[in-house]
Amino acid sequence: MANREFFVGGNFKMNGSKEKVSKIVSDLNKADLPSNVQVVLCPPFPYLAQVVAENKQATIKVGAQNCYVKESGAYTGEVSPKFLKDLGVDYVILGHSERRQIFKESDEFVAEKVKFALAEGLKVILCIGETIDEKKAGKTLAVCKRELQAVVEKVEDWSDIVVAYEPIWAIGTGLAATSDDAESIHEEIRSYLSTVIGKQASTVRILYGGSANGKNAPTFRGKDNVDGFLVGGASLKPEFADIIKSRE
Ligand code: PEP
Repeated sequence: MANREFFVGGNFKMNGSKEKVSKIVSDLNKADLPSNVQVVLCPPFPYLAQVVAENKQATIKVGAQNCYVKESGAYTGEVSPKFLKDLGVDYVILGHSERRQIFKESDEFVAEKVKFALAEGLKVILCIGETIDEKKAGKTLAVCKRELQAVVEKVEDWSDIVVAYEPIWAIGTGLAATSDDAESIHEEIRSYLSTVIGKQASTVRILYGGSANGKNAPTFRGKDNVDGFLVGGASLKPEFADIIKSRE
């Protein structure tokens, strides 16, 4: 078994309210969570400070769902990594398929964001993954490589990057990849990374994302290249704690 700390991210997406977010955090505060799992809660921007303030679990960090590529200035509506650091936020999700598809973020722009966020001291959860058409056309690995390559061109040190393989056909659909299929693509992703970033590839965590839930998470046990999960819908529910505990 590889020596990489298990990692579970919760991407709330554009969901929540002060009350709902408080409930999620207080339930986690009361939960008996394993001390060897890195958990990262990623609420919408307006609730980041609240989660930082209310979180009592030492193993839980807070992440944003996006950030911009400038420190400050005339960029109405954008959020600087500096602001996130100032709030006590440690992580940022970048390249999520919803940002790539709905907001037309290119591979290059995502890579620019990764570079800037890292330079500002944030850790990055970098999402990659193929559409159903790309999967059917046998292009899964090619898409992942292309999305990773854009970042490889801009970033040398991958120690603060966590990769999340999130097949788009599995996101929010209830159709998770099987643990065997995920392990096989994760292995290919790691093998590709080793050709472009060398030895560092063995320490990069590769998460699975796409309809992960309390029920299917334990089926990923023993899959050497699945280092955790990025969880959307289920991160808003009590079963999130079961996913965090799924390696016990
Ligand atoms: C996500 O949006 O990152 C995600 C994995 O969503 P879900 O778990 O709801 O499929």
